Amino acid sequence: MTKHAADFHKPVRRTLNMDPLEPEPDQQQQEHVVLVEKELVLLEEQDQGVDNTDFPHNDDDNTLNVPPIPPPNAPEMEGVHPDFANDGPDHPDKSKIMDSFEQYLRNSRKNRSWMDRDTRAGTELLHLLQKHGSVSLYDKILDWHLANLDANKRITKNNLVETLRQRYNMEGSKPFIYRVILPSSGVKCRIPCHDAWAMMLDLLTDPRIMAEDYLWFLDDPFGAPPTEWLELEDINDGLAYRKTYEKVILPQPYTETGRRRVLLPVIGYMDGCVTGFNENLSIELMKFTLGIFNSKARDKEYTWRNLGAVPQFQKVKAKAVENLEKSGHVDADGYLSLSESDDDTPDMRKFTREYEVGPYIDSEDEDLEDMCDVPIPATDPQDLHVILQVIMAGMRDIFRTKGFNWDFYHNGERRRLEFIPFMLFMKGDTVEHDKHTGHYGARNEGVKSLCRYCVCPNEETDNPYADYARKSPEMLVEYIRKYDMDGLKAISQQFIFNSWYEFCFGLHNKLSIHGACPMEILHWIQLGMFKYSRGSLFDLTGPHSQLTRLLDTIATQMGWLFQRQSDRAYPRTKFTKGVQKGTLMAHEMTGLILVLIATLRSSQGRKAILDAKNANFPDNNAILAWIMMLELQVQFESFLKLRKMPVSTVIRLRTKVRELMELTKLIGRRQKGMKYKTNNFHSSKHVPDDILLFGPPHTVNSMANEMHHKSDKRSAKSTQKRPKSFDYQCAARVEERRILEMALEELKGRPRWDYFTGFERHGQLKLDRIVDRHNNGGAKSPKKPKRYPNLTGVKAVFEYDEENGYGYEVKSSMNRKNRFRYPPYIVGAVADLAEEVSEYAPSLTVFSELQLTEGVLFRAAPFYQGKPWYDWAMARVGEQIEGFEQRVVPVHIRCFVDLNFLPDDNTTKYAPGCYMIVEPTRLNPDAEEIGLSDLFVPFLKDEAPNAPNKVVFLPVANITRTACVIPDTKHPSQRAFLRVRPMEEWANLFQTWVHSEHAVVHQEPNIGE
Ligand SMILES: [Zn+2]
Repeated sequence: MTKHAADFHKPVRRTLNMDPLEPEPDQQQQEHVVLVEKELVLLEEQDQGVDNTDFPHNDDDNTLNVPPIPPPNAPEMEGVHPDFANDGPDHPDKSKIMDSFEQYLRNSRKNRSWMDRDTRAGTELLHLLQKHGSVSLYDKILDWHLANLDANKRITKNNLVETLRQRYNMEGSKPFIYRVILPSSGVKCRIPCHDAWAMMLDLLTDPRIMAEDYLWFLDDPFGAPPTEWLELEDINDGLAYRKTYEKVILPQPYTETGRRRVLLPVIGYMDGCVTGFNENLSIELMKFTLGIFNSKARDKEYTWRNLGAVPQFQKVKAKAVENLEKSGHVDADGYLSLSESDDDTPDMRKFTREYEVGPYIDSEDEDLEDMCDVPIPATDPQDLHVILQVIMAGMRDIFRTKGFNWDFYHNGERRRLEFIPFMLFMKGDTVEHDKHTGHYGARNEGVKSLCRYCVCPNEETDNPYADYARKSPEMLVEYIRKYDMDGLKAISQQFIFNSWYEFCFGLHNKLSIHGACPMEILHWIQLGMFKYSRGSLFDLTGPHSQLTRLLDTIATQMGWLFQRQSDRAYPRTKFTKGVQKGTLMAHEMTGLILVLIATLRSSQGRKAILDAKNANFPDNNAILAWIMMLELQVQFESFLKLRKMPVSTVIRLRTKVRELMELTKLIGRRQKGMKYKTNNFHSSKHVPDDILLFGPPHTVNSMANEMHHKSDKRSAKSTQKRPKSFDYQCAARVEERRILEMALEELKGRPRWDYFTGFERHGQLKLDRIVDRHNNGGAKSPKKPKRYPNLTGVKAVFEYDEENGYGYEVKSSMNRKNRFRYPPYIVGAVADLAEEVSEYAPSLTVFSELQLTEGVLFRAAPFYQGKPWYDWAMARVGEQIEGFEQRVVPVHIRCFVDLNFLPDDNTTKYAPGCYMIVEPTRLNPDAEEIGLSDLFVPFLKDEAPNAPNKVVFLPVANITRTACVIPDTKHPSQRAFLRVRPMEEWANLFQTWVHSEHAVVHQEPNIGE
């Protein structure tokens, strides 16, 4: 509420017969004065106990003083049960509720003025939101309203959208409908499409795209790929880009009109998304982005544009209608009436373009008539390709220009470019990729060739060293031209005219769409490789055996040990239901494999396995093999997560990945299903090539795109949900959302028409009229920069007392503070230190937390959220003597001490600063122990004569990094621990392995061929 409004609309008392309509402001203000005066008089009168209002009121108040009239013929009181005997009029609660209600009525006379304008507005708005929208919007809408009190004209939603559409040059991007007849079903199909040119323009001039979103070599749109091919970081480092550049740009860098020719890679994404309203109403949008944006920018929703929607209705029509009819829902009829909606009358167009059938004509066939009339296959998968062809028709028009002019704004300059478009790849999952390439969707035992990439027959799928030809348009057209159905079946390909063959892909190979459906590598390794490994391990230990149950318990415990660590980069490892079973999310699989490795490596786990005398694990070597395999797999994943990779490593990986497959077969011994004759296993072979062609997996990952579904779903929810027009309405709603996004950019000072002056310079927000109380409310005092190291947490003050010696008091308001108790040997250590520095301070304060830098926190607390929490750190220990190198080892921190009060020239051995009391470790010298694992390094805590462990004082400056250390229980030594190497080192370990000698030298085919 603004200040003005609050002053003006104090609750005002009025007479009851007053006209409920608001008076004009002037009149109201006068009346306000009069009424307020009157109100004051009334209040005074009431204070004096005189009720002289002109309100009608009853006289019940006075009846209290009148003695009660006995009812006629009152019965004798004797017979009343003692529980119900009247206490008489003295009981204090006798008139409790009656009095309070009377009080309320008296008070309410003062309140009974008409609800003020602000309260009324709020009430009505909230009611509307409750009924039709979301209550969480209440505060936001009210703020918005008050910031826009000067707006007084009603603009309908449609008018608003249309005005803005024009304002931002988006008239061309409005969806329209192409009508086509599908070849297999003969159904007349309505396909919502957008004009590709309009979308391209819209994307190129989006004010949200900033200089840092572009992907240029050395930040220059004219830049060329480096001549030496050393690193893979983004798509323009891949061979697809480099080779295309070499063949298209290098021979002719400029056009005849002097424009610089620049490659414009186009990346597509298609995926269905269920809208939640009714499973049958899903929406499958075809989207695209450009490879001139970098990987990070391509993860943003605003770098994507829709080209059209695959109509879902025809397929499910019958089912949807049936479902609704059966549902018995009161509104079912409303949804079943398939009339066009009034505000969404689509622009209907007939699709007239012919399919390019030339390549499918058998030139040896001499019958000319046949040549001119090649029917499009009437197969189900062909329907989709006809739809794809329609949706992509506009984009194909762009491609056919073989380069279009664009003046690109860059660093204050207008750079004259000619963009040369080419398809780079299609993002998506296996299901979508199978559709694009025409591979069989099913991969059951009857399928003869499981791989989408190559023609490897089923029985060779598990052979890491067998190479087969890549699928290509050339190969498939040959089969189709000859109607060779058996041939197609043998390689599990559909009989279709593939709509993608009409597009120009990268010139690095001739595989077209068959080489441009890179799989989601991270999903593949997490849900494929990791899941197989877990399954195989527990199959070998016996799915229902005692050993498996024991290992499951140990692994679950291990998971808990990983949780409280100073190094917080490790994946989630808490599996409350055990690790053997249960469906996990892809990103949880890494943590699962990590605890399995920890289990196999730990003394406890190894002992359990060897004690069980399991035939599959006869000795330590069998366990060792499993540790090696699992460690290699998680290291592989870490490598695949790198933003940047050396080309040489990935090239070597082409052979090395075969070795990894061989190892997996040998050690994993998967017995389930088709064993290793699976597409998942076989796909490993194609991973390195995909990386070499398109860049590290993050360039292809569609996780961000899946996140964008959220806003599409919201848009879908605002449609009328009529099955027949649902696809079109969704497309229209998404488009309206984008128009509004443009309007908000203008409010932020970045109107689209400023493209050639650059959007960066318009920093200041014009949006500040909209008061966001939560974010901007009140001037924030600038935060003082924090100083590090910073000791925080729970404080305990150590002091000397004649009677008891050294003791400490915990200064904290925490619950169960009495449980915050340091072990006696730590108290002793602190007391010794306090004694040593007593000359300079009467007491010593220890802390439970150390903030080393922003975001790096170490905790050493005997009690934290129910348990002790003592972090580990890597720190330099040992004497600091010249000529001796200090060791960096894991240290277990027990507390932090502030010795900053010491003067520089003090008589103790300490310089002023922050210190910690730690228990140091040393590397377990047993070579066999060290050799058990790459990721877990064994350490032993130092012994001490009179304490469980040796303790030392170290300056906190000796800390080199965070650490993750877990106890190795059931080890012969009670002081054994395992330090887990930090995750960022895992990828390095993998690279070292990749560069080790090949087990089998293999002649690799050309990259991506
Ligand atoms: Zn293959």
